[in-house]
Amino acid sequence: MKVAVIGTGYVGLVTGVVLAELGNDVVCVDNDPEKIDKLRNGIPPIYEPGVEEMLKSGLRDGFLSISDSIREATRASEIVFIAVGTPPGDDGTPDLTAVRAVAAEIGKAIDKYTVVVNKSTVPVGSGELVETIIAEQGADRSSFDVVSNPEFLREGSAIYDTLNPDRIVIGAKSRDAAVKLVELYAPIEKPMIITDLESAEMIKYASNSLLATKISFINAISRLCELTGANVADVAKGVGADNRIGPQFLGAGLGWGGSCFPKDVQGLIKISERYGYDFRLLREAWNINSDQTQHFLRRIESRLGSLADKNIALLGLAFKPNTDDIRFAKSLEIIEYILERGGNVAAYDPVAAEHVKDLYPSVTYVDSVYEVSDQADALVLVTEWNEFKQIDLDRLGGPMRQRLLFDGRRVYSKQLAERAGFEYFTVGSS
Ligand code: NAD
Repeated sequence: MKVAVIGTGYVGLVTGVVLAELGNDVVCVDNDPEKIDKLRNGIPPIYEPGVEEMLKSGLRDGFLSISDSIREATRASEIVFIAVGTPPGDDGTPDLTAVRAVAAEIGKAIDKYTVVVNKSTVPVGSGELVETIIAEQGADRSSFDVVSNPEFLREGSAIYDTLNPDRIVIGAKSRDAAVKLVELYAPIEKPMIITDLESAEMIKYASNSLLATKISFINAISRLCELTGANVADVAKGVGADNRIGPQFLGAGLGWGGSCFPKDVQGLIKISERYGYDFRLLREAWNINSDQTQHFLRRIESRLGSLADKNIALLGLAFKPNTDDIRFAKSLEIIEYILERGGNVAAYDPVAAEHVKDLYPSVTYVDSVYEVSDQADALVLVTEWNEFKQIDLDRLGGPMRQRLLFDGRRVYSKQLAERAGFEYFTVGSS
């Protein structure tokens, strides 16, 4: 099929390269000239395992092309995906500026029947909004249909997730449009849930909000574990062994960050407000999450007495492993807290440091993990990259002023850390 994907971020680029890999004729569009330039040269503007190989093979084999023209891409395609960002606005409501702009461009370009697919995470009613915007540009209502096809991929395993989704959600008013998407996704051979536009849009927010709430729940339990002497890892294991609950998203830690959970939880709270419903459960999940990192920072501060003139070494900056995404990353909150109190920060991340440098130029960024602990008063594990799991703690502790380890993701064990001479602190156990 002939497909256009507008927006070449984590979602759009992955969708584009995977659809090309499946043999579709795909054009990926962006309005950022720097990204277009890189993509045309086979260089992904994001770090995501496997994308570079698929981008290069798609370009080489002719299934994939890169464009800066929504008009040309729309005219060349039967299906046009909108995969642009929907960041939170000032009050937390999703900002649909990019979605509106792209819809208007598509509306101006449509010259034959086209299925326009909203893959961006958008509030209920946005499908109708996109339809109205396209029609306002003069496109005949019979010449297009709008479909909601929310995305569930996880950064870090986005290619795998796109090829192996638990389900594909398709929300449409028109049967023909839904069938078109079913045909496009048929080679993936995964369950498809066909529903109306509104329900598809709600499924995305409900899914992310439930997952975030599950993490907030175990983090609330972690606080109780710290107070009672229970161990949250054992508790999570025991709870997650119940098939009705499942073990996923029961990892206590610094809380959820990233480009999706904070934005979508905040978004659903705001959407609820707009409809006159106070989603108290979700507001509390948010509050628990906000307090989780602050509580950890207070523990660090309390052990060190004061953060002023202390050297704190951070292991990891990305909001989670295997991505360079730092949107709403806990590392940013931690850096800010330490700097505000007169402390110094050194940081190491395998791929994300470049994105943090502009935000916090006073932080010392090092190129290898063993450089980060030089003269440090405390080590803080922020992101659970695999390379940190295999680290030689004794070597890391060598150049430190004192061996204090604050493990924000429960990567190490107390025994392991103590064997390397560290005083060990973690989330959810004493
Ligand atoms: P992103 O910021 O990484 O990428 C968005 C891209 O759209 C950028 O490359 C930007 O240059 C481009 N863009 C913006 N305005 C444009 C315009 N007018 N014309 C052409 N291109 C334009 O965003 P993302 O992380 O890929 O997320 C996209 C959407 O998917 C969001 O709604 C997000 O909530 C949702 N989503 C994201 C994830 C994730 O893990 N990142 C997962 C599921 C759903």
